Amino acid sequence: ELNADFSNLLLVIVNNPLPEDYDYEGNLTIIDQKYLCGYRNQMDKDAYIFAKAMLDAAWKDNVELYILSPYRSFSTQSALFENEVKTHLNGSTTREQAEIKASTEVARPGTSEHHTGLAVDFNSVETHFEDTEAFLWLKEHGEEYGFIMRYAEDKQDLTGVIYEPWHWRFVGIKHAKEINRLGMCLEEYIEYLKQ
Ligand code: ZN
Repeated sequence: ELNADFSNLLLVIVNNPLPEDYDYEGNLTIIDQKYLCGYRNQMDKDAYIFAKAMLDAAWKDNVELYILSPYRSFSTQSALFENEVKTHLNGSTTREQAEIKASTEVARPGTSEHHTGLAVDFNSVETHFEDTEAFLWLKEHGEEYGFIMRYAEDKQDLTGVIYEPWHWRFVGIKHAKEINRLGMCLEEYIEYLKQ
């Protein structure tokens, strides 16, 4: 039985990166191979309990749902970011401009939610993921396992991140349901809780 009150609202964004001394590996566990469709295989061990239950439920409904990208280390994110910067560098672009462009698509190291082990990319990092049965299933059932779609199309101004239908974040069942009911993104919800 999943604990509906268990939660984790850690906010990791551009303006709120993980602290220098953050223990990146402190709460990780290895994900069972059967849940994976990529080669990275670690996530937060508490969130994993919920993710497993979610994937099992999806499979029971004949929906193909797999974890493509879970936890990423600081150095992995640095490499991903550097690759993205390179695609924006050309004769007329400065390094700084290229970094700014890159950061809308790939988080700067230290600012990626994947560092927390609480975020998961499913199946495929393509916008057409939103047209799949897996996405529809997640939209309907994700909250029952404490997961929210983190970067909605109409919240880009607030999240600073492009629409990513494949990126889901564990917050806990109670908060996930409330966030969806209110139609908020995590940034808005955390502010709302302060009031
Ligand atoms: Zn992601």
